[in-house]
Amino acid sequence: MKTLTCDVCKKNIFQPVAGRNYFHLAHRDICESCKDQLELSLKSVIRTKQPFTYEWYDRLMKDSIEKAMQTGKFEIR
Ligand SMILES: [Zn+2]
Repeated sequence: MKTLTCDVCKKNIFQPVAGRNYFHLAHRDICESCKDQLELSLKSVIRTKQPFTYEWYDRLMKDSIEKAMQTGKFEIR
């Protein structure tokens, strides 16, 4: 059986299907619950950002993932 490991929480993702039960973001494999946490953690930051650029968002997402990989979870502000 094909199994994938979430790069943040290190949980196994059974029968992974991209976009359904895992997400490939910033060259990392992120499980569904971690993606929810990522979105929550970015939401308050995105709301106050002016001007909003995709490059900025992309970097923010990458930084958040890299940071979460070290701590095992996303920081919700
Ligand atoms: Zn995860």
